[in-house]
This record gives sequence, structure tokens and C-alpha cells, in this order.
Amino acid sequence: MRRLKSLLERIDGRGYRAYKDLRGRYEGEGFELFVDHVQGDSFAEPSKLRLRVPMERAGFPEALRSTPVRRLALGDRLARAGAEAARRRRRRAGSGRSGELFVDAGGQEVLQRTAWRIEEDFVELRLQAGLPADGRRVLGREAERILVEALPKVVEESLLHAAFDERELERFVLAVENQEHLRSRLRELGLVAFVADGSVLPRASGASDLPLDAAEAVAFGAPESLAVEVELPNPHPGARSGASGDSRRVRGLGVGHGVTLIVGGGYHGKSTLLKAIERGVHPHVPGDGRELVVTDPDAVKVRAEDGRRVEGVDIEAFISGLPQGRPTKAFRSEDASGSTSQAASIMEALESGASALLLDEDTSATNFMVRDARMQELVAKEAEPITPFVDRVRELSDSLGVSTVLVMGGSGDYFEAADRVILMRDFRPRDATDQARSVAARHPTNRRREAARPLAAPAPRVPEAGSFDARRGKRAVKIDVHGLDRVVFGRTPLDLRGLEQLLDPSQTRAIAWAVQRASAELMGNGVTLAEVLDGLEELFDREGLDALSEFGRPGEHPGNLARPRRHELAGAINRLRTLRVSAAD
Ligand code: ADP
Ligand code: MG
Repeated sequence: MRRLKSLLERIDGRGYRAYKDLRGRYEGEGFELFVDHVQGDSFAEPSKLRLRVPMERAGFPEALRSTPVRRLALGDRLARAGAEAARRRRRRAGSGRSGELFVDAGGQEVLQRTAWRIEEDFVELRLQAGLPADGRRVLGREAERILVEALPKVVEESLLHAAFDERELERFVLAVENQEHLRSRLRELGLVAFVADGSVLPRASGASDLPLDAAEAVAFGAPESLAVEVELPNPHPGARSGASGDSRRVRGLGVGHGVTLIVGGGYHGKSTLLKAIERGVHPHVPGDGRELVVTDPDAVKVRAEDGRRVEGVDIEAFISGLPQGRPTKAFRSEDASGSTSQAASIMEALESGASALLLDEDTSATNFMVRDARMQELVAKEAEPITPFVDRVRELSDSLGVSTVLVMGGSGDYFEAADRVILMRDFRPRDATDQARSVAARHPTNRRREAARPLAAPAPRVPEAGSFDARRGKRAVKIDVHGLDRVVFGRTPLDLRGLEQLLDPSQTRAIAWAVQRASAELMGNGVTLAEVLDGLEELFDREGLDALSEFGRPGEHPGNLARPRRHELAGAINRLRTLRVSAAD
């Protein structure tokens, strides 16, 4: 660090370019600092740094890093501590982003991310720093404050076992392990999702992902007939323990395979329950309230999204006989309607391997969801291209093994199709399955089933590598990511607002780079979209997200990336306006 200090003294007052000399490796006391990338000016993307501590010194017990899931949890917790330590040391100093210091530690979910790395012999924290300048002039003293003075503190507060409350750290790791264990067992338990008693589902506000204040929130409690008890590998301090009193056994709502209907009056907590289930595909931090809301990792939220692009999707199961003879076997639209967009998103979800579909009436196209007897009589089938979802939902489960969880307060036409009906009242679930059946028997819908042909899995599509053009001007690859759901890929804007399970801008960045990587290396020669997704997942498993480094050399800090699911990757590819596909041979 002495070398770094004198380097900073030497470049003080010089032009910003002089910072480029910082690239390289420095020895601190008990840690190493790597400066991987130096920004071009104080307004550019901050510079990228890594702090590495030998495991011997860091002292994290073997037990906390003995499995991939434990390393995930430990790394996540370190990154959060690092983010907090960095936040305390950031100070506006100069122009642009001068003085920024942060770690991309994420929100309420625990995701694989590039902010940390844990190996057998070291732990590493990746940071971003705005190297300070006054206009174009290097502020050497301010840089010294960050790089020489603050970074050792960040090490002390996040990369040493001694920095943590040992019990809290262990609880964090074991809580994540509980969730991942349960998630891996859901299928054999016959469940799409599990919602533990005592969970707090509502959020503080529409703009915050933190839990609603305990004083206001009605804690979740499953009705007896829908309750299941699951066994966790570790005690769970949060939830009420099961009948046995063993805190490894946890009681909660079991959302089984098949068709699940969530009904109830407006404002009684239906969408909140579904949202929690949507987010349950990832682990949550202790204290979130949704630590034991655990969902099948391949459950996919599907919504209507008018205006979206659709490319060569077979939506015939839901829509056929469009005006002007528009083909629906390989449907293409620059501006899909509510119903066609929802149909396309469902078929795409099946293609990417969804095990369950999650739908909410609030974000669905009404004419896609239902067509009642009166409308059937007024508008002849010949003049209505849509086969409503209600006529396919059973087949999805019975023929394709794809479950559905559906919020539907507005139509009872789904009663016949449902395996179970959960009625939300005052934010508490009840089992209304039998009641719904008897209502259905007493009040027949008199509607005719409209599906002409049986539902089949979508035929695989082959994305054309050449349809992904990331070039802009002189740059061979130029990708800009603006927040959670806006990307500019080359010159093509990409809108991801329809992907409701996309939750972290770092996932969005990873998606954008993964799509570019896939088009360059995986696509072509008849490789199907599903195979491209397999290839990307293999790459992430094998090399980690570091493989997506925008900044070249492997092992270097690739920026702020978090792992997306294959379904969100597919969602992005499917929405790219330049995408072209052909049918698989
Ligand atoms: P619905 O979909 O049935 O119309 P929502 O799920 O949108 O209802 O919930 C309505 C409001 O109630 C939201 O502001 C939500 O945050 C709040 N809410 C939901 N569940 C709970 C709960 N368990 N305790 C307290 N408030 C809740
Ligand atoms: Mg709602």
C-alpha cells in the first residue's frame, strides 16, 4: 500500500488519464488489493477493485463454506457487510462520481453474484469506486483517503470472521440452506410452493421490498386442510414450530401440483400471496418475512404485455383464425395485443422449461382468461380467435405436467378446473375447495369448452445468431443497461418490464451480456433456444458469472452481475426486436 500511496502522491493534480497507472496488484496488511479497471473520467462507470484475504487470516470456519449453498450464503453475507462498510466511507469529493464506494450486495433475495468470491484459500470482495477528480484533475489526497485508508477498514469489517456476530452469521447461512434444501425437495413433495405459517408477505410499500411493519401485517397461517409439515435440515427460529415442537419441522400452506385458484374479495391479499410465491424462486434473507416462502425454481409468472414483440411462437393452442389470415402457428408481431402477448408468453415459458405458471387477474387480459356463456352466444366461435385459458388450464397440468397458480377474484368459471381453491379473507387463507365445487354444481356455467385440438408442447425454435447485433458505431459490442428493465443492445432497445420475476438490475446486466455471449458462441447450427439456455447455465455453473466479464481477463472483477434464471434469459431473447427464429429440423 506504500507503493499505492506514493503513486497517488505522484499523480496528484495531473490529468485523469494518470489514474490508469493504478492498474495492478498491491499488498496491504493481511490483504491484497487489485485494481482491475480504471474509469476514463469521473463521470464514467466507477473503477473496479478487488480485496482479497487469505482464508487462513479470514478465519471463516470450514462448516460455513463446506457446500455450494453455504458458500453462496456466506458470500452473500460478506458482500452485505462489505456494502455497509463501503457505504459508511463514501464521501462526495469532486466532480461526477468522485468519492463513490460501493459493493453490489443486492436486496432481499440471495442471488449468486460477482460481488464476492469464496475459494478454498481466499475470500474476495469486489467493489466499485469513483476515483476522485476536480474536473479532469486527479485529487490524489481524496483517492488516498479511499484506497489507502478506507479499504483496510472495509477488509476488517467484512472479510474477517471476527467482524461478525458468530451466531448471526451461522443463522444466516443455515437459513439459506433451509430454503434451498426445501426448494430442491418441493417436486418430490408434490408442491409448487410452500408458505410457512408466520410468514410476513406484505411489503412496506409499493416502492419498498422490506417487510410491512409487524404491527400492521397479518402473519400467514395455513388452514388445516391445506397445511403440510416439512422437515428442514436446520432449526428455523422464525416460524412457529410444528406440532412436534421440533423447530426443524415447519408447518405451512402446501400449494400442490395441478391447478390452484386463489380467490377472495378485492384487497384481501390475493396478489400479495402470489407475489410472495413468485419471489419464492430465490432465497430470502433472514428477517425478510418470506424466508420460508419457497417456490419451485421453474415457476414462471406470465402476464399480458401489449405492445411486446413476438417472433415465431406457436400460439395456436390459444389463438387461431385471426383476421386477414394471420398465421398463429408461427405468430409474429411487432405490437402484440393483450391476449396474443399472454398466449405467446405462456408458450415461451413452456419452451424454456416452466414447471408451473403463475397468473394474476390484475395483469391478465380478460378475454384471454374467460369467455362466458353469454359471450359465447353473442359472438360465434368462428369470429372469436381465442381459446380462453380456462379451457386449457387442466390440459396444461394433465397432459404437460405444468401446474398453474391463478389469482382470480372476478370469475367463477375456473371452479371446475381447480384442484384446490384458496379463499383469501382479511389476509388469511381458507380452503374453499369443497364450497367452490358445490357452487359449481348448483350454478352451471353453461359454457361450451372451446379448445378444438389437444394442447401440445411447443415445437423447439432455433434463434438465428445473426439477429443479435450488439454493434454500435465503431464499437463491436455496446450494451447499456438502465436500471431493472431497460437495455439498449447495440442499437436495439429492449424492454423487460414484462418479466416480473426479474428483480435485480445486476441480473439485467448479466442477461444482456449473456445474450451477447450466447449469440457469439452458442447459437447457430440448428441449436435450439432451450439448448442455448442449457449452455448458458452450464457456463455459469462451470465458470461462474465472472465468465461474462465485460472487462476481459478471467478472474478479474466483471462488474456487478447477479445470476438470472433461464426463464428471464429466455424472456429477454424473446423480446429482442431483432430476433429471428427458424423451426428446429
Ligand atoms: P388483492 O389482490 O386481494 O386485491 P392485495 O394482495 O393487493 O389484494 O392486497 C391489498 C393490500 O393489503 C396491499 O396494500 C397489501 O400490502 C396489503 N396486505 C396484503 N396482505 C397483507 C397482510 N397479510 N397483512 C397486512 N396487509 C396486507
Ligand atoms: Mg390483486
